[in-house]
Amino acid sequence: MKFCMKCGAFYEEKGAKGCPKCAETARLHAEAEEAEVNHVMDAETARCARRRAWIELCVGIPAFIGAIYLIIYLIRTFRGA
Ligand SMILES: [Zn+2]
Repeated sequence: MKFCMKCGAFYEEKGAKGCPKCAETARLHAEAEEAEVNHVMDAETARCARRRAWIELCVGIPAFIGAIYLIIYLIRTFRGA
């Protein structure tokens, strides 16, 4: 039997794994942290996607209008020539 200094639990040492209770706690903590990070990433991704959509809208519409004007200009130029 071994005594864990961290959580105060007695445990059977199998190999060099150390305290299973602390390992489990660490695993759960890591999972919780990962979930938190994923959540933050999702929010960040959503914000980036929204911003990108706005930029595409702001750039896309003038570009579309510009393209139409360019086509009209070219048609007039060719007709005039
Ligand atoms: Zn422990």
